[in-house]
Amino acid sequence: MNDFIRTFFLVELFKGLKLTGRNLFKRKVTIQYPEEKAPQSPRFRGLHALRRYPNGEERCIACKLCEAVCPALAITIESEPREDGQRRTTRYDIDLFKCIYCGFCEESCPVDSIVETRIHEYHMEARGENIKTKQELLAIGDRYEAQLAKDRAMDAPYR
Ligand code: SF4
Ligand code: SF4
Repeated sequence: MNDFIRTFFLVELFKGLKLTGRNLFKRKVTIQYPEEKAPQSPRFRGLHALRRYPNGEERCIACKLCEAVCPALAITIESEPREDGQRRTTRYDIDLFKCIYCGFCEESCPVDSIVETRIHEYHMEARGENIKTKQELLAIGDRYEAQLAKDRAMDAPYR
């Protein structure tokens, strides 16, 4: 009988409308993605990049610390000495399917070379595109260097 009365007078419906009414004019917590973006931390761990020094020299010295520390074995590095005797990578691949975006590679790098950008909207269309090569990673670094340098400067006091 009680259930019948509640159903007849639409009690549950009015309870729902009361909740809607209470929140109708409150500040919205949802955003219209992708037109609106949520704020990101300077420590955001997105797509990887390899950075260069301002003179264009690549930072990476092929120490392979990032490769050793990567828990997912996502990084593959090959290296050899250049003509001037400096060691440089001849191959630097990251398998994005293996990567768990832990940031260990970034933390281990002594020269701030491998970093994770704020880029999180990317996709692959063909087999093999999950492997980011050295040239691709350097190109990402070149494109986003201003933001990368700014983020690292902001985060420096906490490192
Ligand atoms: S973020 Fe973590 S899992 Fe991904 S490449 Fe770096 S160390 Fe490996
Ligand atoms: S990216 Fe950094 S940690 Fe990795 S090999 Fe190069 S210098 Fe070493």
